[in-house]
Formats: sequence, C-alpha cells, structure tokens
Amino acid sequence: MRRSKAFIPTSKEAPNDATLPSHIFLTRAGFIQQVAAGLYNYLPLAKRVIRKIENIINEEMAAIGAQEVELSFVTPAELWAESGRIEKFGKELLRFKDRKENLFVLGPTHEEMMVNMVRNRVTSYKQLPLHLYQIKTKFRDEARPRFGLMRGREFIMKDGYSFHADYDDMSREFDAVEAAYKRILERLGLEFRIVEADSGAIGGSGSKELMVLADSGEDTIAVCSECEYGANIEAAKRAGRSHIPQAPEEADFAKFYTPNVKTIEELAAFFKVDPYYTVKCVAKKCIYEDDEEIVLFFLRGCDNLQEVKAVNATDALDIVDVSEEELEAIGLVPGFIGPLDQDKAKHVIDEDLREATRMICGANEKDYHFVNVDMSILKDVAYYADIAEVNEGDICPVCQKGHLSFTKGIEVGHIFKLGTVYSEALKAEFLDENGKSKPFVMGTYGMGVSRLVAAVIEQHHDENGCIWTKTTAPYLINVMISNIKDEEQNAFGEEIYEKLQKAGVEVMLDDRKERFGFKMKDAELIGFPYTLIVGKELANGNVQIYERASKEKTTVAKEEAFDKLMEMIK
Ligand code: ATP
Ligand code: MG
Repeated sequence: MRRSKAFIPTSKEAPNDATLPSHIFLTRAGFIQQVAAGLYNYLPLAKRVIRKIENIINEEMAAIGAQEVELSFVTPAELWAESGRIEKFGKELLRFKDRKENLFVLGPTHEEMMVNMVRNRVTSYKQLPLHLYQIKTKFRDEARPRFGLMRGREFIMKDGYSFHADYDDMSREFDAVEAAYKRILERLGLEFRIVEADSGAIGGSGSKELMVLADSGEDTIAVCSECEYGANIEAAKRAGRSHIPQAPEEADFAKFYTPNVKTIEELAAFFKVDPYYTVKCVAKKCIYEDDEEIVLFFLRGCDNLQEVKAVNATDALDIVDVSEEELEAIGLVPGFIGPLDQDKAKHVIDEDLREATRMICGANEKDYHFVNVDMSILKDVAYYADIAEVNEGDICPVCQKGHLSFTKGIEVGHIFKLGTVYSEALKAEFLDENGKSKPFVMGTYGMGVSRLVAAVIEQHHDENGCIWTKTTAPYLINVMISNIKDEEQNAFGEEIYEKLQKAGVEVMLDDRKERFGFKMKDAELIGFPYTLIVGKELANGNVQIYERASKEKTTVAKEEAFDKLMEMIK
C-alpha cells in the first residue's frame, strides 16, 4: 500500500474522554473513529488487525474440529423469553419492534440462537459431539461504555458452543478449547494468564478467564507465588492467612458498654484487639426480579465483602448500598449490628466465622457490643458462604504453600462448562444409546476480538504510540523514502517495496512529500514493527532498518536490505 493513497487519518488530538493508551493511540493513529458512546468505525488499519486476529482464531478452531457458522445478529425476543434471560440481561438487551410489531433483540451473545439451531436437527448421540462457533458483531447496551474498543456497546466476539452426550465429553472439549485459546494468545504475542473465574448466575461448575496482563486492566487477579494458581478476585479462594494475630485474653461472654464505638477501627482500638477478632456487618439491598430485600453480610473485621460472591450467595440479580435510614426503618441499629439474637433481616455469615472464638460483635442495641463470642453457637441456624475477598499474602488454596499477590488483567476470553441450563430451558434433547431422551450437555467459549485489538496495545506501546506484535501488525514493514525528490532514493524505495510485495510481505511505502521528521513520527504512532529508512546514506550504498519495539537502528548495505528484512520478520 502506498501511504499517499492510504486512508489513515492520523492526528495529534486525543479524544477528550480517553485515558487508556489503546484508546488514545488507536484513535490518533487512525485505526478507529468513535461514532457515539461505545460505537466505533473500524478504518482500514484496524480492519487489517482484526482480520489477522480472526485468521489465527479460525486456524486454531479448525485444529480442534470446531466448525464456523454465522447466526443472525437480530434475534427473536421469544428465544430470550424461553431461556428467561430477557429479564436477567435487563437493559443491556437492545429491543425493538419490526413493522409487524414483532419484538426483536440485538444479539449480545448467542446461546439461545445456537441451541435453537441445533435442537431438532441433532437428535441422536451418534451426531455428538458438535462444536460450532462464529465471529460476529455483538451488541450490549453497557451502562458505562468506555475505554475505546475495550468496552464498547457494539463489539466483535468469537463465540463458540459445544454439544455433548455427557459431562465428561464436554469437559474434554473444554480442555481442548483452553489449549487452543492459549495457542491463540501465544501466537498473538501476548503475555497472559488463564485464571479461575466466577461462574455467575448461569451456574455451571467451571469457568476460566483468559487475562491479558496489563496495568490498565479492569480485572484484579490473584496469583500464587509458587504454583500455577490464578483466579479472578471475584472467585479467588485462600487456604488461610499468612499470619493470625495474637488472640485477645480469655474472658467471659458479656455485653459491654461501648459509647459511640461504631466502626471496626474504633472497635479494635477500644478493646485493643486486632480487627481479625471483630465481626464486621456489611448491609446491602439485594435486588430480585420483582422484589428487593435487605441482607446482612457478616465477616471478620479485617476482611472486605466481595460483591460478586455476595451476589452468588444470595442469588440476587444485583446488590446495592442501603442508607442508615433504611436500616433503622426495619429496626436495625447501624454501627451496632451483630449476628446474635437478630431476626430483623436475613444474614449470610462468612465461612471463616463458622468456628471463630473470642470475637467481638454488635449487640443490636445502641452503644453495646458483645465480647468473647463463640461464633459456633450459630452453627445450626446460620447460613454460611464464602463472601470475603482474599487479601494479598493469603495462602494459596491449591499448593497451600505459596502466597497470593494481585495483578491487573484484561479479560479477553471466558470459557464455561455450561451443562444443561440452556438445553433444558429450550428443550433441546437427543436420544442416548438406550433410546432415552436427554438434554445436551454444553460448553460455551467466548473471546473478545475487538477487545483483543485494544489489549495488544495496552501491553505493547510507549509514549510515541502503538507497537504491534509481528502477528498483529497491519503492515509489517514501512518503507520510508526520506526525500521523495531524490531520484535515487525514490527508485530504490520503489524497487524494494515491489520486491517485498512480490515476496508476500505486508508492506507500506511512505511516498508522501512530507518532511522526514513528520513521517517518522507518524510511523512511530502507527507502530509498524520495522521501518526501512531510505535516506541520505543511500548515496554511500547504505539504508537503515529501524525496529519499533527496541528503537534500534541498524545500518545495512542496500543490496543486503531485502534479505535482512526477510530474516527479521520471520
Ligand atoms: P466483562 O466482565 O468484561 O463485562 P463479560 O463477562 O460480560 O465481560 P462474556 O459474556 O464472557 O463477557 O463475553 C466474552 C468476551 O467478550 C469477554 O471475555 C470479552 O473479551 C468480550 N466482551 C464482553 N463485553 C465486551 C464489551 N462491552 N466490549 C468489548 N468486548 C467485550
Ligand atoms: Mg466474563
């Protein structure tokens, strides 16, 4: 491609709301253009990157026997009613009516559509397993679309769905997909981690996320210092803590006057104990389909409530904060709420409090706390769940030796052992070996294609712009003719450009009548992995190869430039 003809509107201006390097540089370098909140046009350079990612995905999917299909973007609302997700997805589903008043939804994911396609067409165990996937535009009316391609409303996803006769076979396919996803990310040149994920409301027993490691990632992941364990903080577990604080002195159970002592800090200071020995109450309002309820979550004072775990423990659609007034209205005493003798609201108690002793907790009475509480007295009446967020330093739940530390990740893929949730809801069944009707056991596998474009840049950029990896670059080589008026430079530039093109290399020729400095800045911003500088040195028979990532310039004899470039891009 000739740069003089290319549609690459680079600019110095970054979008007002842009904070992430990928958002800033992809816009400034002319890859994307924002149309409205969360809606983007892909310009020629972005289109090329997307195609490259898609090609790698297609190759790896073919290697595990998955077949590509393409389902309609517009999906009938009845399917979403059948699965019950029309409510669960809520406002993220963009609904509209056609001229005949039929209700439709723009597909945010395609479980229902895929099950609908397969049901009554695959009817026997002999036709299983079956793995279908597509690469398709999705629409989710995200509450806060942001960060450019990272969280759009319209975005491209690769979504795959597999159908099996039993759980073991699905589990085998899940492992195969995990391996394929790993190869895809390796080929894209990304540093990543596969972590355990929250399986959320759709249930299922296993789910993993593929996290591209980047400081700007929206997800926090806990990783072990000794073994391979990694988990999204929403799902991370611990075997224990690195250090158990000194227990308070043995004393009798008693109600204690604690005037105005409301927070955990005040309570710990008042009794001179570590917050580990206090019971914290986090009150939330759980939102259900057509109901809401105040729920009290009790944890050790040193822990924090993990909201996703809290949602899972209560089966709520969402949980939100409550005001002190709302708590008082049902007879609770904010600052002094405890789990003993308390029937004003439902509770969930953290697993770690099951057998805790010598604890201090609110007495459900203004200015009073109970001391030396043995929490196990609640064991027959309380509802326990893992609701606490792990802390850095906690002991790994897998190897039980290493310590957990936190790092940031961008979720680029999510794979799910789905089971029979959708096949049961949509009555998609097959006949097994004994002629018995059974719902398909399913797996579902998503990968964010447009988010991957942003993820590459989050991991590979500097203050001057994008640094594409070899497998994702829109063009691998940029041949820059320094002075277009110099006949010799022009001739050599054209010659090597043609030779590279003939060799099948994706090459750009910067043949614009612009200053060298300007063109170089532009090349930096766009992020071609290699720029061949055809400049003044040509008079002495030399050209220079500039490597974007290392910023290193190598001078080579002009006769050797082609071979050297071919070797570098391998
Ligand atoms: P997130 O937690 O980031 O909202 P999700 O759990 O809703 O993602 P999935 O339903 O698992 O996402 O979708 C599969 C993949 O699609 C994700 O792993 C992510 O890479 C991508 N994806 C999801 N939402 C968006 C979005 N709004 N913009 C771009 N990519 C997205
Ligand atoms: Mg997810």
